[in-house]
Amino acid sequence: MKPTLVLVGRPNVGKSTLFNRLTRSRDALVADMPGLTRDRHYGIGRLGDRPYFVVDTGGLEPAAKDGILAEMARQADQAIAEADALLFLVDGRAGLTPQDKQIAVELRRTGRPVHLVVNKGEGMNRAVVAADFHELGFGDPIVISASHGDGVRGLIDAALAPF
Ligand code: GDP
Ligand code: MG
Repeated sequence: MKPTLVLVGRPNVGKSTLFNRLTRSRDALVADMPGLTRDRHYGIGRLGDRPYFVVDTGGLEPAAKDGILAEMARQADQAIAEADALLFLVDGRAGLTPQDKQIAVELRRTGRPVHLVVNKGEGMNRAVVAADFHELGFGDPIVISASHGDGVRGLIDAALAPF
């Protein structure tokens, strides 16, 4: 059984960039426009001889009752419910935001294992970047750069370790 890793986080933190790197595909839409990636995207990746599924959620946005946003939220909820581990991405350059805190509360409720991932960490002091996000309560964050690849192997090692 391949473990399923689900990428969650507010729009524009780099989920699709990481999805592409983890699946080495161009299937996920990457764009500068926040929130452009609207659907769930599935891919298969491999670390050494260990395969995994990865899901790119469209970004957890404020709840909507109906329409496209509600459908996106429903799909993200379903992906989270099916996750073996959640990779909770935040933006090391933007720092901690109220939306990150809100998402942290929701993720804690799911009871799924959460790995806090600080993205866009290239060229930054890891300890300083990580300290900003400790209050989310998921322990020591893993600092990566999805676009440069720094720290990505260590992240997947940690996420797959229990399986
Ligand atoms: P998503 O909305 O969470 O899927 O975010 P995207 O993957 O679409 O990325 C949003 C923006 O952040 C794009 O302009 C990316 O090029 C940029 N980005 C993603 N990863 C990194 C990174 O590791 N470092 C930097 N500096 N920018 C990044
Ligand atoms: Mg995206």
